[in-house]
Amino acid sequence: VTKHFAASRGRRFGLGKRPPVRAVEDVSLNLTAGRITAMVGESGCGKSTVARMLARIYPPTKGRILLRGKEVTDSRAYRRNVQMVFQDPFASLNPFHKVHYHLARPLKLHGHARTKAEVDEQVAALLERVSLTPVEQFMHKLPHELSGGQRQRVAIARALAAQPVALIADEPVSMLDVSIRLGVLRLLEKLAREENLALLYITHDIASARYFADDILVMYAGQLIEQGPSQRVTDDPAHPYTKLLLSAAPDPDQVDDEEDTTDHGEPPSLISPPSGCRFHPRCPVALPTCSTTAPLFTALADDHHTACHLYDPATVAG
Ligand code: SF4
Ligand code: MG
Repeated sequence: VTKHFAASRGRRFGLGKRPPVRAVEDVSLNLTAGRITAMVGESGCGKSTVARMLARIYPPTKGRILLRGKEVTDSRAYRRNVQMVFQDPFASLNPFHKVHYHLARPLKLHGHARTKAEVDEQVAALLERVSLTPVEQFMHKLPHELSGGQRQRVAIARALAAQPVALIADEPVSMLDVSIRLGVLRLLEKLAREENLALLYITHDIASARYFADDILVMYAGQLIEQGPSQRVTDDPAHPYTKLLLSAAPDPDQVDDEEDTTDHGEPPSLISPPSGCRFHPRCPVALPTCSTTAPLFTALADDHHTACHLYDPATVAG
């Protein structure tokens, strides 16, 4: 999929037409039930844009989204199947409504519960699934009576209320206290494994991706630059940017708490991205061809791909 945003700010201030922001270019990915896929990259690389396209919050400029092999035509049915958990648990719950309301609403909306008794029973079951117990206590709380981690669990329960097949979690723990991150990630992992959800875990933190995900997709400047099984991508990374991310990542056993720990240059502008390989201005091993020709996605193994001239047989031969 591809997403370009019109630069409406330029027009509003009478600066004439501006070129669009090319947030995401030709990103292709598959999610599988019961598997965790991590999408990794710096802030501003297009991860959240991909997430929002997958959740149909905005449509792609170009490209298709398939659910079980079929192109999506019914947005409402699709949205029920693909739910999203956002980064900020403080902004995602209406402060005037109790937990019960937040969970009852999607249950009723999607027709999963009708009578009051059914709703109560299912709200309790949802709270149980996200370990907010005793459930009778939690269902009557207001968001401000909950910690960040508890709110994020409510947001996850709300997503589950729709009975989705896939969950898109966009930096679900980066705004939480370090001490409670692992618990929330373990909950997401449990849902993927035990309830057979397809989970897309979006993060700037490759260390947590290595820890939780089966597969890793690395994004740079709106493009996918490496993709493969997590173990392989993190033990034997191909792309120079993946290597940079790994060298900047802290202790792999810890879940990192800071955005953008890299100090090897700035992410590029997406209005006029660099020519050729978008990473070339920051790449320590760039070849002459890198500034003029964009590398193609090349297979290193059946399940491991990268977009870098160093692995492109045509470049290496020439
Ligand atoms: Fe570096 Fe060239 Fe590979 Fe881009 S294509 S990552 S500039 S070596
Ligand atoms: Mg983001």
